[in-house]
Amino acid sequence: VAKSRGGNEVVVFTAEMETREQVRVAVEMNLLTAIRDGSLTIAYQPIVDLRTRAMVGVEALVRWHHPTLGPVAPELFVGVAEATNLAGELGDWVLAEAVRQFAAWRSELPPGALAGFAISVNISPVQLIAIDFVSTVAGVLERNGLSGDELILEVTEHAVVSDDAAALKTLHGLRELGVAIAIDDFGTGYSSLAQLKRFPVNTLKIDRGFVHDLGRNPDDFSIVRSIVKLAESFELDLIAEGVESEEAAATLVELGCRVAQGYLFSRPMTADALGTTLRGQNPGRYSRAQ
Ligand code: C2E
Ligand code: MG
Ligand code: MG
Ligand code: MG
Repeated sequence: VAKSRGGNEVVVFTAEMETREQVRVAVEMNLLTAIRDGSLTIAYQPIVDLRTRAMVGVEALVRWHHPTLGPVAPELFVGVAEATNLAGELGDWVLAEAVRQFAAWRSELPPGALAGFAISVNISPVQLIAIDFVSTVAGVLERNGLSGDELILEVTEHAVVSDDAAALKTLHGLRELGVAIAIDDFGTGYSSLAQLKRFPVNTLKIDRGFVHDLGRNPDDFSIVRSIVKLAESFELDLIAEGVESEEAAATLVELGCRVAQGYLFSRPMTADALGTTLRGQNPGRYSRAQ
């Protein structure tokens, strides 16, 4: 599977490397190097107010383009990181880089241009139970001059938290910092409601599986309507994922969900492209500040 070239460990992706296990091994062998040598990047997807279409935040989505493997799907290498012991290092890198980038955009924009804006970062369960995670987050925020309410941490509903007590301690610590916790892919797990009872959360992200066909599929309509009601009774914020059509956007507004992301508005984009978009969204304010 792994072929050494000239003494350097380079894993070559070949046609024979068919099985998932072989790919997994190749990914594992290269991931630590990638984290450390700067070959990971982050794509940013706008999160918009459905009525005004103004950007109210972005979600940071990690990307890895390997010289021979090519682009590696985040679901694959995040999964590998979680199965090995790399999730902490990967997650810390994404958090630090996303917050740094957010501060950089702000410094390029006129004061107040990013008021109310938040950056969303996905985290792994391993990070949630790490003893020093709250201080890691506090440190990253402080170094970059962000306040806690400008950060949303997303934990996928499928995340298996091995230590509820440790996770709860972290979640309460994050709450004290003002950081919001979102349940990602909400509605797809076995215990969506139990999650709400177990953990203090602020936001539900409606899984894109319920959203992409919304407006045409009556089951999706009923499910999303229920999630909106749930969010209202628990006083939670809502973000719909995977909005691909005007029909879905209109149905979300009709049901009372005001914030969303999806290809209809924008695909994830590079930090540079997102910066350009932000400046375009604040043209008057930007030129006044020149
Ligand atoms: P997620 O957190 O639920 O992120 C949303 C995914 O939906 C992204 O896929 C995004 O590109 C995709 N998406 C957004 N709008 C649309 C749409 O309108 N239609 C469709 N079909 N897809 C849309 P991506 O970037 O491939 O990420 C996949 C998953 O990998 C993420 O799902 C998240 O669970 C995980 N992930 C990505 N970055 C990180 C990270 O830095 N840390 C951790 N722990 N997980 C990450
Ligand atoms: Mg997410
Ligand atoms: Mg999601
Ligand atoms: Mg997902």
